[in-house]
Amino acid sequence: YKLDHFVVPGHYKDDVESILIPHGIIMDRIAKLAQIITSEYDNERVVVACVLKGGHQFFSDLVNLMKKALNKEGKTLPMTLDFIRVKSYENDKSTGNVHISMTEKELKELKGKNLLLVEDIIDTGKTMQRLLETLSKYELKSVKVASLLLKKTPLSCGYVPDYVGFAVPDLFVVGYCLDYNDIFRDLDHICAISETGKKSYAV
Ligand code: 5GP
Ligand code: MG
Ligand code: MG
Repeated sequence: YKLDHFVVPGHYKDDVESILIPHGIIMDRIAKLAQIITSEYDNERVVVACVLKGGHQFFSDLVNLMKKALNKEGKTLPMTLDFIRVKSYENDKSTGNVHISMTEKELKELKGKNLLLVEDIIDTGKTMQRLLETLSKYELKSVKVASLLLKKTPLSCGYVPDYVGFAVPDLFVVGYCLDYNDIFRDLDHICAISETGKKSYAV
């Protein structure tokens, strides 16, 4: 896509290399995902947990559409909304350490519940694998993962989420709440960051 044909905020004009997925296409895909995900649950309450911060926009749009969708019994799905903070990246490199914000008490409260984790992107898959490993000790009834993006990378640990919006090439992507050192969350489209962008916002 040529950048001039879409609205990229002026302050990011030189920081974005190309638009990979325009906002409208993201929204169309999420509408479809909301239908599919909702239709695969029965009438039990689902804890929908946003993996902060990157998953926040996808979470909001997905939940709003799931509220209007019907489950496999033709009914609306009862949802509890929750938030988890998981942090692993600095600049565009995984730090290898995954920090999960949930307390022991919060984790124990998940026992017997259906959990749907909403994540922005699976890259190596290590963050999600660690999170799922931790959760596996707490006797949940079900755990599913919806990730807006799945990166095609040779560094993948093989983990594949239950629901994926789009596959993206092995580039560092930003926008639609995905960040580079907390920058670019205020960009509607999913974009490839430029060298200028990387230099401008490196820490
Ligand atoms: P993984 O552990 O799967 O390698 O990476 C997990 C997390 O790293 C993602 O949830 C996301 O927060 C961050 N991440 C991985 N690749 C990208 C990327 O291309 N762009 C952005 N903004 N974040 C990424
Ligand atoms: Mg994330
Ligand atoms: Mg991030």
